[in-house]
Amino acid sequence: MGLRLYNTMGRKLEDFEPITPGKVGFYGCGPTVYNYAHIGNLRAYVFQDTLTRVLRYLGYAVSHVMNVTDIGHLTDDADSGEDKMVLTAEERGQSVLDIARFYTDAFFADTDRLGILRPSVVCKATEHVADMIELIKRIEANGHTYSAGGNLYFDISTFPDYGKLALANLDDLKAGARIDVDGNKRNPHDFVLWFTKSKYENHALVWDSPWGRGYPGWHIECSAMSMRYLGERIDIHTGGIDHISIHHTNEIAQSEGATGSRWVNYWLHNEFLVLDKGKMSKSSGSFLTLQTLVDRGYDPLDYRYFLLGAHYRSQVAFSWESMDGARSSRKNLVQRIARILAAEGSAAGGTDAAPTHAEAVAALPAGSPALPYLERFREAVEQDLSTPRALSELQGLVRDQAIPPRDTLVALRAMDATLGLSLLAAAKESAGADQQDDPEAARISALVDERNAAKKAKNYARADEIRNQLKAEGVILEDGPSGTAWRRA
Ligand code: AMP
Ligand code: ZN
Repeated sequence: MGLRLYNTMGRKLEDFEPITPGKVGFYGCGPTVYNYAHIGNLRAYVFQDTLTRVLRYLGYAVSHVMNVTDIGHLTDDADSGEDKMVLTAEERGQSVLDIARFYTDAFFADTDRLGILRPSVVCKATEHVADMIELIKRIEANGHTYSAGGNLYFDISTFPDYGKLALANLDDLKAGARIDVDGNKRNPHDFVLWFTKSKYENHALVWDSPWGRGYPGWHIECSAMSMRYLGERIDIHTGGIDHISIHHTNEIAQSEGATGSRWVNYWLHNEFLVLDKGKMSKSSGSFLTLQTLVDRGYDPLDYRYFLLGAHYRSQVAFSWESMDGARSSRKNLVQRIARILAAEGSAAGGTDAAPTHAEAVAALPAGSPALPYLERFREAVEQDLSTPRALSELQGLVRDQAIPPRDTLVALRAMDATLGLSLLAAAKESAGADQQDDPEAARISALVDERNAAKKAKNYARADEIRNQLKAEGVILEDGPSGTAWRRA
């Protein structure tokens, strides 16, 4: 069937065809490093990572580029407000670069804990100002700019496709525009390419440019850095849905204004994670970080598991109850996989290898009962990354006792690497612990299996007998959607 992706440009599912066969150039908007990432932000990066992993599973060589915004992102995406980095630096009495370094490290510590692979290229805005200046010169040479009040603006009236991604046309934008605080703009949706004048005279980081000493607008960094590392036409660009109307709309105007041709083939956007109470924001006091979850006793991968249980284009409401559900399902899977590993012998244990679909199929004997699971898993991820369906195929595979353990492990290794859940690694750890430190665990797991088999055979008397025996020993059974997990009381 082949990979199909939902393209925000045009709002429809499309067959994926890379520019160069077998290769994918992918740019994902990265963090603004003035604070910790909240768990909503982290959803955007789990999504980027899942996309990379799925593309690799399908056999593509992926070049994934991510920017780190360490200058120029104002508190309002449309040029008003203050520079987020400068504001934090002033509040803390530290330099902008110190703040950037600290929160960049914190960001990657979080993404590592979530099993997010490091992008092929991580590029910082402050290290690419020369690229931005060169790109702005091209935009200027093509007649898309004007200077006013010391700043250089992009004139959206010169770019007829402005607003196409957001399904807003130029006339509507002009007619419906709200009053903007910046009186220099001819149209309120014009945006700054280069600032020389700002409310804060002593801006910490400034560069010389043809338009005077100053600093770049926020949007230009993504256009300039993606072109530096991926060329003037790229396959995929991602971000959260909040980026559609301003940031990505402006990125397109700049990039295509400079090159005169189409820039991105597929625009993919993840929906938001919301709290029960509504939007998560850094100012509202409802700011949950990955560390908040860890402090409450969750494994970061419980959060990844929770996220993958929803499609990336569905809004997800965060709750502690859902986190409990994710934790218990993941634990249950890990326990089952540990038993499969034990049955197969340690030689078949998890490795770091991430086989492609074709490699996994080739490693299975013809007619293996694991094959249909692997095929349905591939179909699920090919259908615009349907991780809920992919996850349920993984669960079905692990639960199916008709499959020889070796085959289960071959298919599982590919699925696990594609979802980035490290289930095999966790199972290997717990299997080792079972044998060395806790021989009781193996006995209990065997009883749980026997109880499930008894239930399946409608031998409820035996099933209850086992539950009661374990209860008397202080072992609690939790039946969940993916089977039974046990824990000591
Ligand atoms: P920022 O650091 O604010 O530029 O945001 C980083 C990424 O997180 C961007 O791709 C945003 O679109 C995305 N994002 C922000 N808030 C949320 C949320 N609540 N849920 C999902 N993604 C979000
Ligand atoms: Zn961007």
